[in-house]
Amino acid sequence: MSIKKSILKPEEMAALVKLKLGGKKIMGQHKNDHIKNNENLLFCYDTLDKVSRSFAAVIRQLPEEISDVVCLFYLILRGLDSVEDDMDLSIEAKTLLLREFYTKNFEQGWSLSNVGDKQEYRDLLANYDKVIEAFLVLDEKYQKIITKICQKMGAGMADFVESKISTIEDYNLYCHYVAGLVGIGLSELFAASEIESMELETKDVLANSMGLFLQKTNIVRDYKEDLDENRIFWPEEVWNRYSPAFESFSLNPEKPESLSCLNHMVNDALSHATDCLDYLKLLTNDRAFRFCAIPQVMAIATLAEVYNNHKVFTENVKIRKGLAAKLILRSGSIEEVVKIYKKMAATISGKITNGLINSQRTIEIVENINNYCDLALSESYKPHEIA
Ligand code: MG
Repeated sequence: MSIKKSILKPEEMAALVKLKLGGKKIMGQHKNDHIKNNENLLFCYDTLDKVSRSFAAVIRQLPEEISDVVCLFYLILRGLDSVEDDMDLSIEAKTLLLREFYTKNFEQGWSLSNVGDKQEYRDLLANYDKVIEAFLVLDEKYQKIITKICQKMGAGMADFVESKISTIEDYNLYCHYVAGLVGIGLSELFAASEIESMELETKDVLANSMGLFLQKTNIVRDYKEDLDENRIFWPEEVWNRYSPAFESFSLNPEKPESLSCLNHMVNDALSHATDCLDYLKLLTNDRAFRFCAIPQVMAIATLAEVYNNHKVFTENVKIRKGLAAKLILRSGSIEEVVKIYKKMAATISGKITNGLINSQRTIEIVENINNYCDLALSESYKPHEIA
């Protein structure tokens, strides 16, 4: 992300400054005493800052009773993902480790050296004993949920170690394992902590969509980065319709076939957008809402940025830092989030090119999101009925 681009956007600069000055207050507490005085938690939060700046901020602002739980949930799954992403491990070792990873959370003193494709991931796994200690003092109800999700995700990742993502069904299943399960687990953690109602636990389809929306957005945006690392997450069933070779899009980024393929992938991701709004509507805790809403608004803004944008094939396209700051400040209520979705739908609408294969489908999806938003806004502005 570049700050320079935002200088031309005074409104966004104001949001950046405001976020910098008031960010701690808006985004909540930093380093509470219970963290400062606990060597293991201190390591966990420091590591969280290193492995994910964006999630670290939203996790820290969660209510205290659940922020440590979510921090551990995140780090454990990040550890698992570091195993999945390490291309130097043998297939046998990786598959076994992925399937057994959830049991390691109960093995005091366990750690893993030299695994992970970035230094911060290697550090996490090399000091994993600290994560285990922090995990073992969590309430048992949280340990059970985290363990169940970790087991399912590890098994799913292992299934995909040797098989590629061929069909759209594979794509949805893979995204379910690596992201949908995160949404489902978080719903269960929120319900278990009673910061949200038990009803949330039953909304697996919507929670899954929350994860898929984020994951698919990253997969579309990261075409180039993943290609450079010899990774293909776009389903062959889709890209094969536009080119016999996945890498050809990077060689001919402006060809109609390349853009059509990209737009096909964006359309697929956008199809989860209304489910995400349905999920967000269910949340009652302000901090849980912000935690869930911020990544979602970033995702739809990213989709608006990458739609029909040939640069995706040759560089790492990201939303402007100022826009990100503005979106974070505006993600406090469902009305604001619906307005952002509506605005991003309009942005995409303005980028639709006549004559491209998937343009009609985009028109339908965007119209659907827009209608959903209009209905949600008219509902939320209805005067409250007198009981
Ligand atoms: Mg991975």
